[in-house]
Amino acid sequence: MHENTTRDTVILGSGCSGLTAAIYTARANLKPLVLEGHEPGGQLSITTLVENFPGWPEGVQGPELIENMKRQAVRFGAELRMAHLSSVDLSKHPFELKIGSDVIKTHTLIIASGASARWLNLPSEQALIGHGVSSCATCDGFFFSGKEIAVIGGGDSAMEEALFLTRFATKVTLINRSERFRASKIMLERAMAHPQIKFLSNTTVEEVLGVEEKDVKGLRLKNRASGEESILPVSAMFLGIGHEPNAKAFTGLLDLDPDGYILTKSNVFTTLNEEIVPGVFACGDIQDRRYRQAITAAGSGCMAALEVEKYLEEHGR
Ligand code: NDP
Repeated sequence: MHENTTRDTVILGSGCSGLTAAIYTARANLKPLVLEGHEPGGQLSITTLVENFPGWPEGVQGPELIENMKRQAVRFGAELRMAHLSSVDLSKHPFELKIGSDVIKTHTLIIASGASARWLNLPSEQALIGHGVSSCATCDGFFFSGKEIAVIGGGDSAMEEALFLTRFATKVTLINRSERFRASKIMLERAMAHPQIKFLSNTTVEEVLGVEEKDVKGLRLKNRASGEESILPVSAMFLGIGHEPNAKAFTGLLDLDPDGYILTKSNVFTTLNEEIVPGVFACGDIQDRRYRQAITAAGSGCMAALEVEKYLEEHGR
């Protein structure tokens, strides 16, 4: 189905930055269309307590924060649609977005499609996703009540997952591939002080056991210093090893960094061959690998929205 009208703005992604952009553009009466993508609500929707978003002295649950942002955007006229972008044509004006066989035309585009959880990409891991292998502690932790589990990673995500999972698991083994932890001091200390969390450093996962049984039975581990292998019996493996940017659709259309994050100028302006691409803005984790906080994502969503308003005004709309 081709829409007859051309939209003023379309926002890709309904995480913190996309929804902030939606609130601002909706309040400016631009009736933004928000395409929710394959992870509606973004990363806040799969997290638990957010303690550092200003305005909630006692903290706020991530899903609640996102739900409130959605309601706020919809109240001002934003339209949210569950849809996954298949391709985009930025060479035409208005831009054309393909959603399956549908085409949506828009004068401006805000890319807020964020970054998705990274996997180890072991065949055994991939075979057991949903059968004890998970990247979302909040979603799946409950299923492992009374069991022993493993968390992979050495950053804040891994610490947060490990701490959260102690609510259910009797023991959490945190496996980090190096001796060095990327996690902030406060998170690392909290995890290290927890009696249910054990640390295994300098260790990699070679195989997830249980493919035949279709249920995680354990992990085959390797110590990187000694080369020694061992088996860790666990019922689940949770990944906390960072994220991949969701910008594949823009390969060749916009400048990306070597890891696939969108490069921006003055915060939210996209470029191609270092020249600004008019009308296309990027905000949130898709273009920010430095701060990656809910509040910075929201801030850049606001900036993108204001730039959209300015761009449309300058182009007589
Ligand atoms: P990070 O990039 O900080 O850490 C990723 C971790 O995963 C590193 O320990 C890395 O190891 C490891 N890793 C990466 N790839 C692999 C692999 N293939 N196999 C094994 N290990 C791997 O990502 P996070 O998601 O933890 O954090 C991202 C950002 O979000 C940070 O800025 C963080 O502070 C923030 N954050 C904040 C939270 C909070 O404040 N509550 C909660 C969660 C995240 P290596 O070091 O060897 O590369």
